[in-house]
Amino acid sequence: MTAVLEVDDLRKAFGGVVAVDRVSFTVEAGKLFAIIGPNGAGKSTCFNMVGGQLPPDAGRVRLGGEDITGLPPRRIWRLGVGRTFQVAATFTAMTVVENVQMAFISHRRRLRALIPAARRLYRDEAMAVLERVGVADQAERQCGLLAYGDIKRVELAIALAHEPRLLLMDEPTAGMAARERIDLMALTAEIVRERGISVLFTEHDMDVVFAHADTLLVLDRGRTVATGTPQEVRENPEVQRIYLGGAGVAAAQRAMEARA
Ligand code: ADP
Ligand code: MG
Repeated sequence: MTAVLEVDDLRKAFGGVVAVDRVSFTVEAGKLFAIIGPNGAGKSTCFNMVGGQLPPDAGRVRLGGEDITGLPPRRIWRLGVGRTFQVAATFTAMTVVENVQMAFISHRRRLRALIPAARRLYRDEAMAVLERVGVADQAERQCGLLAYGDIKRVELAIALAHEPRLLLMDEPTAGMAARERIDLMALTAEIVRERGISVLFTEHDMDVVFAHADTLLVLDRGRTVATGTPQEVRENPEVQRIYLGGAGVAAAQRAMEARA
């Protein structure tokens, strides 16, 4: 198997708090890799070091074998690491389809496109992506007027327009209702699998995690508690004790049965 992302002995401390303590993991091509753990476990800090928002104190991050440790976010993004944000990151005054066209223009570096004649540039591509994420009917509305769930779909469309090889999703469904959350994650998993995009994600809904992740890493207070397949992680006594608890295990079981 080919590794898209290799994280090796990563460490980050904030004052006296070691947020991420010698964490290592590998994301294989075309796979969904989840980092889970209680609040404050160090999940977001890991994402931010992979995405370049935070420089690590120690350790290495490699993308397709290339060392990207400590590069600025823009450079990492250019190398094919996409990101969906917890906070909606669309231009509210532009329409939905314009937002996605902008992403195509930026990705394909067509800067001269910023002239009125460019109104149709990548429009077909943008519409195709909007169709795929299920909001084509909202294309001509201003992003600022959309329902929250639809904004999340537009964000996914924008991330896809950048044709990433790795997508970072830090609680992509935060703030959504349960049903919407499950649907959006199922759709995301389907799309990334058909396009061969690798995903690093975190999500506090265990149903969602166990239904979609190929591999899980469990963190607690910065340290690795367990790593493996959903089955292996679910059966790990340490995980059951410190993290999942009885209800969590039941949810994991349900999610895996639904998947089988
Ligand atoms: P998670 O995403 O798993 O909830 P975080 O990575 O956000 O965890 O946080 C891990 C630990 O690092 C927590 O104790 C948190 O308070 C601390 N931390 C995170 N970011 C900062 C920061 N910018 N400054 C100080 N402490 C931080
Ligand atoms: Mg977090």
